[in-house]
Amino acid sequence: MTPVETMRGERVALFGLGGSGLSTAQALVAGGAEVAAWDDSAAARERAAAAGIALVDLAHADWRSLKLFVLAPGVPLTHPAPHWTVNLADAAGVPVVGDIELFARERGARAPNAPFVAITGTNGKSTTTALIAHVLEEAGRDVAMGGNIGVPVLDLPPPATGRTHVVECSSYQIDLAPSLSPSVGLLINITPDHLDRHGDLARYAAVKERLVAHSDVALVGVDDEPCREIYARLSARAGAPRVIAVSGRDYPLADFWVSEHRVMARGEAAPAADLTPARALRGAHNGQNAAFAYAAARTLGVERERIARAFATFPGLAHRMEEVGRLGPVLFINDSKATNADAAEKALMSFRDIHWILGGRPKAGGVEPLRPLFPRVAKAYLIGEAADEFALTLAGAVPLVRSGTLAAAIEAAAEDAARSPAKEPVVLLSPACASFDQFANFEARGDAFRAFVAEWLARRAAAGERAKKEA
Ligand code: ADP
Repeated sequence: MTPVETMRGERVALFGLGGSGLSTAQALVAGGAEVAAWDDSAAARERAAAAGIALVDLAHADWRSLKLFVLAPGVPLTHPAPHWTVNLADAAGVPVVGDIELFARERGARAPNAPFVAITGTNGKSTTTALIAHVLEEAGRDVAMGGNIGVPVLDLPPPATGRTHVVECSSYQIDLAPSLSPSVGLLINITPDHLDRHGDLARYAAVKERLVAHSDVALVGVDDEPCREIYARLSARAGAPRVIAVSGRDYPLADFWVSEHRVMARGEAAPAADLTPARALRGAHNGQNAAFAYAAARTLGVERERIARAFATFPGLAHRMEEVGRLGPVLFINDSKATNADAAEKALMSFRDIHWILGGRPKAGGVEPLRPLFPRVAKAYLIGEAADEFALTLAGAVPLVRSGTLAAAIEAAAEDAARSPAKEPVVLLSPACASFDQFANFEARGDAFRAFVAEWLARRAAAGERAKKEA
């Protein structure tokens, strides 16, 4: 934990006592602040009380005595409308911040030169964050990874010279962190998403820009228009930050880019890192993530060869094109995180001869946008509520079967793939749908896929043994 000592002796209010809100409250208490915490949910309040957090109904609190107001992630700051606590804080002139802000202040007070890598973007944040942490760990560094991925930032060990914090930041967290000034800031990409929380694209982009604008070294994507504008603006500025252009495409005008599955660096004749052996970094989108991770690791002084070696051993993240099994040439890939067509597109583009398990609770537009990729699909196995709609879209273009459940789909897809003459047939769960009709969440769906695949492989192996004995 990082006790928040910069608030020692001060009165701090906090709203939102879910996982990270609770950890923030505890870090504030550990640092000697007087915390007044609240949540609309009685269950959350009980959990906090059990953890020794003082509860104060903020609707009736004396806001003028408060130094700071901490809003937990998930509670709206501006859109669609400010939460009632935000209005009260504004009226009393109390600054509203999030946990990343408290971390940034702690770093400023304890170890302002400690390496701090902050990562944002619309897509690829978690993968890039985990990849950078993996590379640094393989290079023998003391690494603390968290933020919007895994561990809340204040649950990490405190900033210290010689320890690198690698922190994923959502736009929302940046919005609540006015002091955020990482040593290395990454802005991977900006596409319309989450606009419900930020209003329009211009405002969403402006929030993301703040992270790189206040970095010592800024790594900025140049593969989309909003990011290119930010890159141009920062480059035109005198002094800090040092701005580095990163592309996931074959774009040699960038400082780092990707050509034929290889990360390239400006001024170097040889490829910087070959991604072919990096099994967890398949697909063009992961090329972008890898180019950023490479640029970040180089900025932090990691040797080229070490980065390339670490890419090859990156295990990847669960539920994002995660390889969960193999039988001869047949690959089993869990891409349960793909809850819409946009995400499923990345997976379909990364493979051929795909036995595609899809469906669940459909999103607007369905899988029609993926039509150009249908030729990569050997057969589709439909599950969940989307079956009728998707069957209509796929009819005539892709052989399909209505499997209904995930278990039945895996059974059928695995048998078909095992019989396929293709070089590398793939059984792919990339549902392009929400999971809620059949599962608690996408993680539960992915875990079920992994378990069914393991069971199918075990049955298959047992049958093989029996056949050998009988022969
Ligand atoms: P985030 O943390 O930003 O949500 P993740 O690394 O968890 O991103 O990846 C989530 C999904 O987004 C992946 O399954 C993939 O479909 C897609 N994705 C990952 N990286 C990129 C990228 N650089 N560009 C576009 N899409 C990406």
